[in-house]
Amino acid sequence: MTADLAYWIFAAFAGVFGLLFGSFLNVCVARMPEDRSVVWPGSACPTCGTAIKPYDNVPVLAWMWLGGKCRACKQPISALYPTVEALFGVLTFLLFRRVIPDLAYIDTAYLAAFVWYGWLLFALVALTFIDLRHYIIPDEFSIYSVPVGVAGAALLGWLGYTGAPTWQGSVVGALVGGGFLAAVIGLYWLVRRQEGMGMGDVKLLAMLGAWFGPVAIFPILMMASIAGSIVGVTLAISRRSGLQLALPFGPFLALAAAIWLYAGRVLEPAVTLRVGALLELFGS
Ligand SMILES: [Zn+2]
Repeated sequence: MTADLAYWIFAAFAGVFGLLFGSFLNVCVARMPEDRSVVWPGSACPTCGTAIKPYDNVPVLAWMWLGGKCRACKQPISALYPTVEALFGVLTFLLFRRVIPDLAYIDTAYLAAFVWYGWLLFALVALTFIDLRHYIIPDEFSIYSVPVGVAGAALLGWLGYTGAPTWQGSVVGALVGGGFLAAVIGLYWLVRRQEGMGMGDVKLLAMLGAWFGPVAIFPILMMASIAGSIVGVTLAISRRSGLQLALPFGPFLALAAAIWLYAGRVLEPAVTLRVGALLELFGS
């Protein structure tokens, strides 16, 4: 077997892993806003409550061979379930490609980095769908993940992985992320007397800081704001309902974080360069 083929088999496994976790992601999206356990009981039809058999729980494929209907009551099952599974499968596959570019990188440090970034990716996709539907970001996918981010950064540093911030950078990133957005919200409150964003967004940016370090905070916030403005204005025009739309900000932060995660190595030097140029400007 060629090394190339072996690599693609590993990458495909990562994708399948993502599909399976995508299935669990659906469970989190459906149950966490209702404070139900994500481990017990097993999945059931949302219409009739019949428990879903293990062979009908295969990601994406089961939905297809069931024709998008429950086996027991024949009521339709939302296409969102296989879509979320497929999305997370693809994202996990791409993450593997991103963190582990070829066979030479398959070792403990790089696999640990893949799992660590995978945790973040899971949180990003889950909070996107939960925030879109319920206008909340669960603490599990924001502030409670901060210790995981810091511990992961420490572990990766110890293992010799260089693609992540140091644990100190991770701590500072979380503080800057949470603090910066809290300040923005405070300012907005002083000027407009209304909440532009919620505490959920503050906690989410703290998590992003823990994974990416302080340098990433500003570009992520910028990208999220630009994307949010474009979508917000487009929706407002198409609905002719004025600009008072309740559009959650979490999904845009998650999108910006995903862009940073996949293109960060391209973006980071550019940002560092700009910050350096700015400092020079102020210094001279
Ligand atoms: Zn049913």
